[in-house]
Amino acid sequence: MSGITHRTQTRKVKVGDLTIGGADEIIIQSMTTTKTHDVEATVAQINELEEAGCQIVRVACPKEEDALAIAEIKKRINIPLVVDIHFDYKLALIAVEGGADKIRINPGNIGRREKVEEVVKACKAKGIPIRIGVNAGSLERHIIKKYGYPTADGMVESALHHIKILEDLDFHDIIVSMKASDVNLAVEAYEKAAEAFDYPLHIGITESGTLFAGTVKSAAGLGTIISKGIGNTMRISLSADPVEEIKVCKELLKTFGLASNAATLIACPTCGRIEIDLISIANEMEEYISHVKAPLKVAVLGCAVNGPGEAREADIGIAGARGEGLLFMHGKTVRKVPEETMVDELKKEIDIMAEAYHEK
Ligand code: SF4
Repeated sequence: MSGITHRTQTRKVKVGDLTIGGADEIIIQSMTTTKTHDVEATVAQINELEEAGCQIVRVACPKEEDALAIAEIKKRINIPLVVDIHFDYKLALIAVEGGADKIRINPGNIGRREKVEEVVKACKAKGIPIRIGVNAGSLERHIIKKYGYPTADGMVESALHHIKILEDLDFHDIIVSMKASDVNLAVEAYEKAAEAFDYPLHIGITESGTLFAGTVKSAAGLGTIISKGIGNTMRISLSADPVEEIKVCKELLKTFGLASNAATLIACPTCGRIEIDLISIANEMEEYISHVKAPLKVAVLGCAVNGPGEAREADIGIAGARGEGLLFMHGKTVRKVPEETMVDELKKEIDIMAEAYHEK
């Protein structure tokens, strides 16, 4: 087992039809907030998450009725399903039997070796991976005793402890998360984990907070981790509708050029030269391009003073001029459009460009 220096150098682990690790790609995931045994509500939320761009979804499985619902949920969704189990190996077995594409369980928490063996055997038979979830807030007692409080070294030690249990059973389809609510601790833990083993890393800042504060905190922490080349799959944890988690994930990946099929908005910060209602146009376009599955850069600028030239890297955009807009592509004005229709014209041109991208 050797350490990695970049996400491209991790092992590859299959989750459903997706591969996590071994590439410069970070798979987006989220978690449902419904009661898993409420199949209707859970399926509806999963489909909504998929529509928003979620690539893998996790459901909580605290009771037997939740584990038993997995088979029915699986039949009705399109993206890989991860089942989150804390201690009960029987729930893991039911979930695996029901068609889970991955389970999240810490082998060290299962109990007797025979129980661990049974879970590993079931996962091997179905070819599904196990995610080990190390959490700074729930490290094993002996580790806390050794280090005094949660540390990055303690978290890595915990991860290695669970990894060893699986490796001793010749099981290597492993993904590991090292979550902490403290950003500095999480960054250090992921860095050390990336040095200590080459299993793909699921990255996240846990309990990060509300939509606004949690987005800032997650972007700070995960941005740092991603910029170091660490992370193969990501969940943003927000106290908000999980669709918001997907939006933040996508935006963060775009920032690092890691979203291959998403459009980016460039919007001027506005100033006294503004000629159009740029803030509402920028918001409208942000929503519009969130459904565009092509790597287009779209600019909206408040005026034409520095206008098109200022957004030369944009594929397409509009700049406000008195009572009208200038539609430009790749830094050059294409035509003038009336203010009332300029947003619609921009949308139409974006659709044409996106279509051309897919026809290429
Ligand atoms: Fe100001 Fe025009 Fe620049 Fe926007 S594009 S910040 S309105 S000068």
